[in-house]
Amino acid sequence: MSTVQCRKGKSSHFVGMLLVLLFGTGWAVSQESDADRNAPLEHIVGAIMTRGGAMAFLETLTDTVGGRVTGSAHSQAAAELILKILKDAGFENAHIEDYPLAARWQRGPASGWVVSPVKQPLLVGSYGWAPGTSGRVEVPLIVAGVGADGKLSADPAKLRGAAVLVDLTSGTDLSFAPNYVVRRSAVAHQLAAAGAAAMLIQSEKPDRMLYTSAAGIYPRAPLPLLSVAREDALFLLRLLKKGEVKVALDVQNSFDLTPAKERNVIAEIPGTHPDQIVLLGAHFDSWDPAQGAKDNGSGVAEILEIARILKSLGVKPKATIRFAFFSGEEQACLGSRAYVDAYKDQLDRHRAVLITDDGAQRPLGFVLHGRTDLEGPARRVLSPLAALSANAISAAGDLTSDDESFVVLGVPTLSLAVEPGDYDTQHHTITDTLDKVDPQMLALDTAVLAVAAYQIANTDQPLARRWTAQEVTDLLKRTGQAEYVELDYGRREQ
Ligand SMILES: [Zn+2]
Repeated sequence: MSTVQCRKGKSSHFVGMLLVLLFGTGWAVSQESDADRNAPLEHIVGAIMTRGGAMAFLETLTDTVGGRVTGSAHSQAAAELILKILKDAGFENAHIEDYPLAARWQRGPASGWVVSPVKQPLLVGSYGWAPGTSGRVEVPLIVAGVGADGKLSADPAKLRGAAVLVDLTSGTDLSFAPNYVVRRSAVAHQLAAAGAAAMLIQSEKPDRMLYTSAAGIYPRAPLPLLSVAREDALFLLRLLKKGEVKVALDVQNSFDLTPAKERNVIAEIPGTHPDQIVLLGAHFDSWDPAQGAKDNGSGVAEILEIARILKSLGVKPKATIRFAFFSGEEQACLGSRAYVDAYKDQLDRHRAVLITDDGAQRPLGFVLHGRTDLEGPARRVLSPLAALSANAISAAGDLTSDDESFVVLGVPTLSLAVEPGDYDTQHHTITDTLDKVDPQMLALDTAVLAVAAYQIANTDQPLARRWTAQEVTDLLKRTGQAEYVELDYGRREQ
């Protein structure tokens, strides 16, 4: 209770400061001649910072729907909740767009034990879209490193039938997340080809937290793939130093290959130049160990609140502002890929796509995914974000979400950059719950996205043109993401 009161106190103080910043001397004096032009932004930001709608929705999403694995009834419930809120806000054009889903996956219980030289339970959890073990298996445990070339360093003869604890980070720097995903996928395929019983990955999370993902392994991991609590992996390594170790594993996941559908939710505010589109997007699917509050309930709450506020204020932008709520991001950006497929005839007319998927920490600005041509125009058009200390523009390449679906097709794409905070510790774990989201920062991120969308929608010209396939190929090579994108799309034409 005291924490909540403290937050409320800080929040109202902060809003007060923000309103002074926006309406007070700094803004009003220097921009006085632009008062008319800035009035809509002031209304939009003021409404976002004072209504608390994003946090209220996020509480409803997390506490009534909960975790939202792609293909599940919870995912469908989330889509229906978003649609209802859009309809209630007056979006007559809000609707659901289905797309086919190749495979649904059901998590079953996952258990592990050391059976010799001692008997102790292990804390393990399955990666998503990984198969089970076909009952309880008792297998030798071995440890394997990975060379700088990505090849396993273990004796191939020992891999067959073994549970293999892999040190993915040996031999090279994998701090750039796409490189880690590429290596994890490649090693899983090497192990499966060698006949290994399971791949075990030491969780990088603290406090025995496990990690869940399907990146780079959708639609089916080639063998059982388990996250092992860091402390338990260290225990296994100590045992292995002293001699042979045998473990038992029982993972009961299942796949359902009957035809299924997933869905996106789409709505828009038509512009006075409706041939131009600015898209705001976030994915509503999540992992199941927790509520998916940060990943990416917060992003959905931000976009949904922008939609509601622009609608309630009667904002009439030049370009159409479209809102997309995607599913299937955690598998292989399935929803956003369905979107670009459905709207392929409109992609040339997408001025920009704005994506948010890094949690609700303090906003910094936007990342342009290697599009250096966007830097100048973005700095100019997004200059009002200086008042929110969120006008940093980076051309760095960093595809980690639905931004990928648009960048690979050359569409100008800006992802909200936020302070890292504790996002990496919590996302895809049991602790991604509502209490980790700071309402003040959630509102501020919402405001930054709203200002960006409004500004881009109201320029006379698009920020930049769509890039050609060759330009995109060069960009992906230059930013070191070609192999990462190949996991979802296969090899690009040279
Ligand atoms: Zn996400």
